[in-house]
Order: sequence, then C-alpha cells, then structure tokens
Amino acid sequence: MNNFQYVRAADLSGAAQFASSRDGVSFIAGGTNLVDLMKYSVVHPTALVDLNRLSLHEITDRPEGGVRIGALVTNSNLAYHPVISARYPMLSRAILAGASPQLRNKATTGGNLLQRTRCVYFYDPAVPCNKREPGTGCPAKEGANRILAILGTSVQCIATHPSDMCVAMAALSAIVQVTGPSGDRSVPLADFHRLPGEHPEIDTVLSKGEIITAVDLPATGFAGNSAYVKVRDRQSYAFALISVAAGLEIVDGFITHAGVALGGVAHKPWRSAELEQRLLVGKPANRNTWHDFQTALLDGAQGFGENDFKLKLAPVTLVRALEQAAHEGETI
Ligand SMILES: Cc1cc2nc3c(=O)[nH]c(=O)nc-3n(C[C@H](O)[C@H](O)[C@H](O)COP(=O)(O)OP(=O)(O)OC[C@H]3O[C@@H](n4cnc5c(N)ncnc54)[C@H](O)[C@@H]3O)c2cc1C
Ligand code: SF4
Repeated sequence: MNNFQYVRAADLSGAAQFASSRDGVSFIAGGTNLVDLMKYSVVHPTALVDLNRLSLHEITDRPEGGVRIGALVTNSNLAYHPVISARYPMLSRAILAGASPQLRNKATTGGNLLQRTRCVYFYDPAVPCNKREPGTGCPAKEGANRILAILGTSVQCIATHPSDMCVAMAALSAIVQVTGPSGDRSVPLADFHRLPGEHPEIDTVLSKGEIITAVDLPATGFAGNSAYVKVRDRQSYAFALISVAAGLEIVDGFITHAGVALGGVAHKPWRSAELEQRLLVGKPANRNTWHDFQTALLDGAQGFGENDFKLKLAPVTLVRALEQAAHEGETI
C-alpha cells in the first residue's frame, strides 16, 4: 500500500508552490490516466494536488480572433462546444475518435496533453523499461511494439505519445499556457512534448511545479478544408496505430496555408512547418503534391519488427487525410 497526501488546490500559485517545494507531488485532474498508473504501481506520488476547483473550465474568445481553452475543460465539452465544432472541426473529430464517452466526460485538456505512453512494458513494473526506470533497458525494441514509434526514436526508447487531441492541436499550431514558481510562460505545442533521446523518462518541457492553465488556438481553424483520419485495431475504444490531422486553405486549386500532423508515429505529434512551407504552400492541391510531401515528412522512418507495417500505413493515411481535407464539402 502506498500512502499519499491529498490536497485540494485553492489557487494556482499555492498549488504550484506546494508542488515545487516537495518531491513526488502530482497534480490530478480527471484522473483517468494518473489513477491507473498508481493502481499499476507505475508511479507513487507522495501527494496529489486536485486541480478541479480552480477556475480553468471555460472556453473563451481571444481578442486576436482565436480561442482559449481552460486546462480543466473536459474532452466532451471541448469536442461538442459550438465554436470548436464550427471553427476547428478537426479538433472535435480527433477528440471524438478517442477513448469512450465516459472517459471523455472526465478527461481534461491539460491531462490529455500529459497522458503517458501506452507501451505495455511501461505499465508492467515486473519488466525493465527506461521510461519508468531509467537505465533498465527497452524490451519493446525486440518485443511487442505494434503501437510504437517509427520516427524520432532513440536507443533508449521507441514509445509513442497516444493522444488524438494533441495531433489536431499540433496541426492547428496551438500554444500551451503554463504557470509555475517562476511565473507564466507560453509554449508552442510543437515544442511541448520531447523526443525520448537519452532521457525517455521526461515527456515534456514542463518544470517541477508547473501547471497547464490553458491551450490557445489561433484564429485559423481550417474549417473549410480539414480532416482527422485515425487507423486503429478496433473501430472504437482503441489508440491510434496511425492518425493524421490535416488542415488546408485552398484558393483557386492552390494551397495558401497548411497544418499537418501525424499521431502514432513518434514520442510527440509529428509535424514539420518547414516542409509544409516548402512542399505544400503555393502548390496545387493534388496527389503529386501529397506524394512529395509524405515522402519528405516520413523520411528516415524505421520499423522495429511488429510495427514495420506502419512504414506502409503512414504514407497512405497521410495521403488519404490530405485528399479528404482538400475535397471536404464537395459533392460528387
Ligand atoms: C481505456 C482508455 C482508453 C483511452 N483511449 C484514448 C484514445 O483513444 N485517444 C486519446 O487521446 N486518449 C485516450 N485515452 C486517454 C485519455 O484521453 C487520458 O487518460 C485523459 O485525457 C487524461 O486526462 P485526465 O484529466 O484524466 O488526466 P489525469 O489522469 O488527471 O492526469 C494525467 C497527467 O496530467 C497531469 N495533469 C493533469 N492536469 C494538469 C494540469 N492542468 N497541469 C499540470 N499537470 C496536469 C497529472 O499530474 C498526470 O500526470 C484513453 C484512456 C483510457 C483509460
Ligand atoms: S519503448 Fe520506452 S516505454 Fe516502452 S519499454 Fe522501451 S523505454 Fe519503456
């Protein structure tokens, strides 16, 4: 039995101060990932700071035309919010492609960003795992790696980040708002999650005691031409093998703006703004363009046995999502 202290946060600065001044403190929001990890004995917090009474439950318009999503907005409330489903449909679709209605009613925006990998070895304290226990090894590289990464891997770890929501937010160029003992800061979602490198135990750039307060979406939501395609082992209640969030702005058949991210392939949503600028913007919205883009974005992909099929699945899913986005709303 692991004893831990339970505290309800009354304000952000008090919660950040409490968590930064002790070891082993975890924030808890919906609890849909953290409580499982505690029950499996993967994590052993000394104290839980419950964030649920903080005023972070709102979705508000921003003066520059975007939207601010409070960290405690549930996945259900976010997906079904009229502004999100009308202006950022790929985000609604991505969230509704994940988990189950019951889980989405509890899971929060901040918690979804910080959910841990679904690598089976990470959840089993009886076996080695560099992410759970640094320096013990990575059995996934020669073992059960069907859902694991093909890009951005390291010798230490080949885990994937399992979120659907984050893939759409990456394509939308979302900004994560954070507060902590050293004050407030804004982190582009593209820079929020880390690649595993030498330290797979560290998932994000958050420092000790930092709390996610909100996620900001820019005004551009790709409402006219967007898609979220998720390929998985079951039609519902399954994590992505490959997912793609694709948003395009098209004028007279040519792409003027693009945001494209992949899930299920790496330790973070996989996006390259540089390749979008070079290979999508200014190009005709057609299959030749998709082909050149997918070839470059997936360059260097490597399978580890069970997940070799992703090397073929990723490019076709990417092309399918771009094709769907380009032709959204068209009648045949
Ligand atoms: C059976 C099952 C199936 C699932 N399927 C999918 C799926 O298909 N797609 C998908 O995307 N997800 C899926 N999920 C994951 C689910 O979306 C996450 O568990 C959920 O989003 C986590 O949110 P939470 O609020 O419950 O987080 P919690 O469990 O409360 O917390 C998760 C982590 O975030 C930290 N945290 C929470 N809020 C904050 C904050 N504001 N600031 C700082 N730290 C914070 C906690 O300390 C903890 O480390 C599934 C989960 C389960 C159990
Ligand atoms: S892939 Fe990462 S999470 Fe999975 S066993 Fe290896 S080190 Fe652990």
